[in-house]
Amino acid sequence: MNKGESISALRKAVFLDRDGTINEERNYLHRIEDFAFIPGVPLAIRRLNQAGFLVIVVTNQSGVARGYFELADVERLHEHVACRLASEQAYVDGFFICPHHPEAGIGHLRRQCDCRKGAPGLLLQAAEQLHVDLSQSFMVGDKNADMEAGRRAGCTPLLVMTGYGSETARSIDPAIGRFASLVEAVDFILRQDGSESVTA
Ligand SMILES: [Mg+2]
Repeated sequence: MNKGESISALRKAVFLDRDGTINEERNYLHRIEDFAFIPGVPLAIRRLNQAGFLVIVVTNQSGVARGYFELADVERLHEHVACRLASEQAYVDGFFICPHHPEAGIGHLRRQCDCRKGAPGLLLQAAEQLHVDLSQSFMVGDKNADMEAGRRAGCTPLLVMTGYGSETARSIDPAIGRFASLVEAVDFILRQDGSESVTA
Protein backbone atom coordinates (compact mmCIF):
# COMPACT_ATOMS: atom_id res chain seq x y z
CA MET A 1 0.00 0.00 0.00
CA ASN A 2 1.33 3.43 -0.92
CA LYS A 3 1.98 6.07 1.69
CA GLY A 4 -1.04 8.24 2.20
CA GLU A 5 -3.41 5.65 0.78
CA SER A 6 -6.23 5.13 3.21
CA ILE A 7 -6.35 1.77 4.94
CA SER A 8 -10.02 1.63 4.00
CA ALA A 9 -9.35 2.19 0.27
CA LEU A 10 -11.34 -0.26 -1.77
CA ARG A 11 -9.44 -2.83 -3.81
CA LYS A 12 -10.21 -4.47 -7.07
CA ALA A 13 -10.76 -8.21 -6.97
CA VAL A 14 -11.05 -11.20 -9.21
CA PHE A 15 -13.66 -13.59 -7.89
CA LEU A 16 -13.03 -17.14 -9.00
CA ASP A 17 -15.41 -20.01 -9.17
CA ARG A 18 -13.68 -23.18 -8.01
CA ASP A 19 -14.80 -26.38 -9.79
CA GLY A 20 -14.31 -26.19 -13.54
CA THR A 21 -12.48 -22.85 -13.26
CA ILE A 22 -9.53 -23.46 -10.91
CA ASN A 23 -9.61 -27.24 -10.88
CA GLU A 24 -10.84 -29.99 -13.14
CA GLU A 25 -14.57 -30.54 -12.69
CA ARG A 26 -15.34 -33.65 -10.59
CA ASN A 27 -18.82 -34.31 -9.38
CA TYR A 28 -18.99 -33.26 -5.71
CA LEU A 29 -15.22 -32.99 -5.37
CA HIS A 30 -14.17 -33.13 -1.74
CA ARG A 31 -11.17 -35.47 -1.51
CA ILE A 32 -7.69 -34.00 -1.76
CA GLU A 33 -6.53 -36.88 -3.94
CA ASP A 34 -9.19 -35.97 -6.54
CA PHE A 35 -8.06 -32.35 -6.81
CA ALA A 36 -6.20 -31.32 -9.98
CA PHE A 37 -5.47 -27.77 -11.11
CA ILE A 38 -6.47 -26.83 -14.62
CA PRO A 39 -3.12 -26.25 -16.35
CA GLY A 40 -1.63 -22.78 -15.83
CA VAL A 41 -3.96 -21.78 -12.98
CA PRO A 42 -1.36 -21.30 -10.20
CA LEU A 43 0.71 -18.97 -12.39
CA ALA A 44 -2.42 -17.09 -13.50
CA ILE A 45 -3.34 -16.54 -9.83
CA ARG A 46 0.21 -15.39 -9.07
CA ARG A 47 -0.03 -12.80 -11.84
CA LEU A 48 -3.26 -11.47 -10.29
CA ASN A 49 -1.55 -11.34 -6.89
CA GLN A 50 1.37 -9.42 -8.37
CA ALA A 51 -0.92 -6.99 -10.16
CA GLY A 52 -2.59 -6.08 -6.85
CA PHE A 53 -5.91 -7.83 -7.36
CA LEU A 54 -7.51 -9.60 -4.45
CA VAL A 55 -8.16 -13.19 -5.48
CA ILE A 56 -11.32 -14.54 -3.89
CA VAL A 57 -12.76 -18.01 -4.41
CA VAL A 58 -16.57 -18.19 -4.28
CA THR A 59 -17.99 -21.69 -4.46
CA ASN A 60 -21.37 -23.39 -4.22
CA GLN A 61 -20.92 -26.62 -2.27
CA SER A 62 -24.37 -28.15 -2.11
CA GLY A 63 -22.68 -31.50 -1.37
CA VAL A 64 -22.56 -30.20 2.22
CA ALA A 65 -26.32 -29.53 2.22
CA ARG A 66 -26.94 -32.95 0.68
CA GLY A 67 -24.90 -34.68 3.37
CA TYR A 68 -22.33 -36.03 0.88
CA PHE A 69 -19.49 -34.45 2.87
CA GLU A 70 -18.87 -31.98 5.67
CA LEU A 71 -17.95 -28.33 5.63
CA ALA A 72 -14.70 -29.44 7.34
CA ASP A 73 -13.88 -31.52 4.23
CA VAL A 74 -14.31 -28.44 2.05
CA GLU A 75 -12.09 -26.43 4.39
CA ARG A 76 -9.44 -29.15 4.39
CA LEU A 77 -9.48 -29.19 0.60
CA HIS A 78 -9.10 -25.41 0.51
CA GLU A 79 -6.09 -25.63 2.85
CA HIS A 80 -4.58 -28.08 0.40
CA VAL A 81 -5.28 -25.68 -2.50
CA ALA A 82 -3.64 -22.86 -0.53
CA CYS A 83 -0.53 -25.03 0.11
CA ARG A 84 -0.25 -26.03 -3.53
CA LEU A 85 -0.54 -22.38 -4.55
CA ALA A 86 2.00 -21.28 -1.95
CA SER A 87 4.53 -23.68 -3.46
CA GLU A 88 4.13 -21.64 -6.68
CA GLN A 89 4.26 -18.27 -4.88
CA ALA A 90 0.55 -17.69 -5.40
CA TYR A 91 -2.24 -17.18 -2.90
CA VAL A 92 -5.96 -16.75 -2.48
CA ASP A 93 -7.13 -13.90 -0.23
CA GLY A 94 -10.29 -15.67 0.83
CA PHE A 95 -12.44 -18.73 0.24
CA PHE A 96 -16.19 -18.14 0.53
CA ILE A 97 -18.48 -21.16 0.54
CA CYS A 98 -22.23 -21.61 0.14
CA PRO A 99 -23.17 -24.91 1.82
CA HIS A 100 -26.93 -24.61 1.21
CA HIS A 101 -29.43 -26.00 -1.24
CA PRO A 102 -33.06 -24.87 -1.54
CA GLU A 103 -34.59 -28.33 -2.15
CA ALA A 104 -31.99 -31.04 -1.58
CA GLY A 105 -30.55 -29.67 1.67
CA ILE A 106 -30.85 -31.51 4.97
CA GLY A 107 -31.96 -29.70 8.13
CA HIS A 108 -30.89 -26.07 8.45
CA LEU A 109 -28.88 -26.33 5.20
CA ARG A 110 -32.06 -26.67 3.22
CA ARG A 111 -32.97 -23.12 2.55
CA GLN A 112 -33.42 -20.41 -0.01
CA CYS A 113 -30.25 -18.52 0.88
CA ASP A 114 -28.83 -15.39 -0.67
CA CYS A 115 -25.33 -16.83 -1.03
CA ARG A 116 -25.85 -19.64 -3.52
CA LYS A 117 -24.61 -18.29 -6.88
CA GLY A 118 -26.67 -17.00 -9.13
CA ALA A 119 -27.44 -14.85 -6.09
CA PRO A 120 -24.67 -12.36 -5.36
CA GLY A 121 -24.46 -12.95 -1.58
CA LEU A 122 -21.04 -14.63 -1.42
CA LEU A 123 -19.49 -11.85 -3.48
CA LEU A 124 -21.17 -9.16 -1.38
CA GLN A 125 -20.02 -10.86 1.84
CA ALA A 126 -16.45 -11.04 0.54
CA ALA A 127 -16.59 -7.45 -0.71
CA GLU A 128 -17.59 -6.22 2.73
CA GLN A 129 -14.98 -8.24 4.61
CA LEU A 130 -12.12 -7.56 2.21
CA HIS A 131 -13.05 -4.02 1.11
CA VAL A 132 -13.62 -4.72 -2.55
CA ASP A 133 -14.61 -2.21 -5.21
CA LEU A 134 -17.10 -4.41 -7.04
CA SER A 135 -17.35 -2.09 -10.02
CA GLN A 136 -13.61 -2.63 -10.71
CA SER A 137 -13.84 -6.37 -10.19
CA PHE A 138 -14.39 -9.50 -12.24
CA MET A 139 -16.17 -12.81 -11.68
CA VAL A 140 -14.69 -15.71 -13.62
CA GLY A 141 -16.59 -18.99 -13.85
CA ASP A 142 -17.90 -21.78 -16.01
CA LYS A 143 -21.62 -21.67 -15.24
CA ASN A 144 -24.50 -19.33 -15.76
CA ALA A 145 -24.85 -19.05 -11.97
CA ASP A 146 -21.36 -17.51 -11.88
CA MET A 147 -22.22 -15.01 -14.61
CA GLU A 148 -25.45 -14.08 -12.81
CA ALA A 149 -23.79 -13.71 -9.41
CA GLY A 150 -21.09 -11.52 -10.95
CA ARG A 151 -23.54 -9.36 -12.83
CA ARG A 152 -25.84 -8.93 -9.83
CA ALA A 153 -22.90 -8.01 -7.59
CA GLY A 154 -21.91 -5.29 -10.06
CA CYS A 155 -18.77 -7.02 -11.40
CA THR A 156 -17.77 -7.90 -14.93
CA PRO A 157 -18.55 -11.58 -15.54
CA LEU A 158 -16.15 -13.62 -17.69
CA LEU A 159 -16.79 -17.15 -18.90
CA VAL A 160 -14.14 -19.85 -19.16
CA MET A 161 -14.58 -22.81 -21.51
CA THR A 162 -13.18 -25.27 -18.98
CA GLY A 163 -15.57 -27.29 -16.79
CA TYR A 164 -19.14 -26.72 -18.01
CA GLY A 165 -18.09 -23.59 -19.91
CA SER A 166 -18.68 -24.78 -23.44
CA GLU A 167 -22.23 -25.89 -22.51
CA THR A 168 -22.85 -22.61 -20.71
CA ALA A 169 -21.61 -20.64 -23.72
CA ARG A 170 -24.64 -21.72 -25.73
CA SER A 171 -27.14 -20.04 -23.43
CA ILE A 172 -25.53 -16.90 -22.00
CA ASP A 173 -25.56 -13.27 -23.02
CA PRO A 174 -23.32 -13.07 -26.11
CA ALA A 175 -21.81 -9.84 -24.74
CA ILE A 176 -20.04 -11.78 -21.94
CA GLY A 177 -16.34 -12.36 -22.68
CA ARG A 178 -15.34 -15.98 -23.26
CA PHE A 179 -11.89 -17.43 -22.71
CA ALA A 180 -10.33 -20.84 -23.24
CA SER A 181 -9.33 -21.02 -19.57
CA LEU A 182 -8.50 -18.88 -16.55
CA VAL A 183 -5.09 -18.24 -18.10
CA GLU A 184 -6.60 -16.35 -21.05
CA ALA A 185 -9.16 -14.62 -18.81
CA VAL A 186 -6.29 -13.31 -16.66
CA ASP A 187 -4.44 -12.13 -19.79
CA PHE A 188 -7.56 -10.12 -20.63
CA ILE A 189 -8.02 -8.72 -17.11
CA LEU A 190 -4.41 -7.59 -16.86
CA ARG A 191 -4.46 -6.09 -20.34
CA GLN A 192 -7.58 -4.10 -19.44
CA ASP A 193 -6.01 -3.06 -16.18
CA GLY A 194 -2.75 -2.03 -17.83
CA SER A 195 -0.88 -3.61 -14.94
CA GLU A 196 1.31 -5.85 -17.06
CA SER A 197 3.01 -4.00 -19.90
CA VAL A 198 4.02 -7.24 -21.57
CA THR A 199 1.67 -10.20 -21.52
CA ALA A 200 3.44 -13.41 -20.64
MG1 LIG B 1 -17.85 -24.25 -11.70
